[in-house]
Amino acid sequence: MLAVDDLVVSYGRGPKRVPAVNGITFRIDAGECVGFIGANGAGKSTTLKVLMGFIYADSGNAEVCGLPAGAPESRRSIGYLPEVALYYPFMKAGELLELYGALGGMARGDLRSRIPEVLKQVGLDGRQGQLLKTFSKGMQQRLGIAQALITKPDLLIMDELTSGLDPLGRYDLHEIIRGLKKDGRTIFFSSHELSEVEALCDRVILIDRGRIIREVTQAELRTVGRERSLEAFFIEQVRSGGTGDA
Ligand code: ATP
Repeated sequence: MLAVDDLVVSYGRGPKRVPAVNGITFRIDAGECVGFIGANGAGKSTTLKVLMGFIYADSGNAEVCGLPAGAPESRRSIGYLPEVALYYPFMKAGELLELYGALGGMARGDLRSRIPEVLKQVGLDGRQGQLLKTFSKGMQQRLGIAQALITKPDLLIMDELTSGLDPLGRYDLHEIIRGLKKDGRTIFFSSHELSEVEALCDRVILIDRGRIIREVTQAELRTVGRERSLEAFFIEQVRSGGTGDA
């Protein structure tokens, strides 16, 4: 579903060039739920933006559903939750979802029933007519998730999954993710909440200073969980440059 090969990405040019991703390679198969973890500035958002086609790599290759990242046909099968979502403040929640649904190729008639359904799914039941400028941060995050789910995409790419959500919101979202997994969707998300990564993911990719330093499978995650938390493991791996035992 996702294939990244020797990807190198930097920002700026010449002496102002900032390296962000330094030659990463990974695969994600259909139906997998994979967590992307790493310290601040490690290169997570940059990688996800390349997969979405928002920024271009200096070199290497990124494919989504067998198509080059950013190809319009590949974008149709992706639901994307940005790290920071800035929605137009004078739009109503329903209007925003109508816009995203239409951009995703949905028919007006289907959207009429889908919008209240997806708002209910994310705990924003009855908020369709509410202006976005009156939404709290957590409500905006929930709306971002609704926006990502509106077209029932096969692949979800989510940057900082539960950022800004209260414990109830996190619980609800975890239930949504479990439902999507059962449904066979492919999910790739970044998060600093390592307990949620541990609870939800089949596999975890650990990135540090633009390089993948570890990939941890479900079986290894279970071993980690028995001996120490994923958080303790994460700190150990980042400090050792990925040479610690799972
Ligand atoms: P966080 O967990 O803090 O969101 P991240 O792992 O998502 O971090 P990135 O946002 O991908 O990290 O950043 C990787 C590197 O690229 C960092 O050094 C960051 O400063 C740099 N960077 C990111 N965006 C830009 C930009 N627009 N211009 C210049 N440098 C950038």
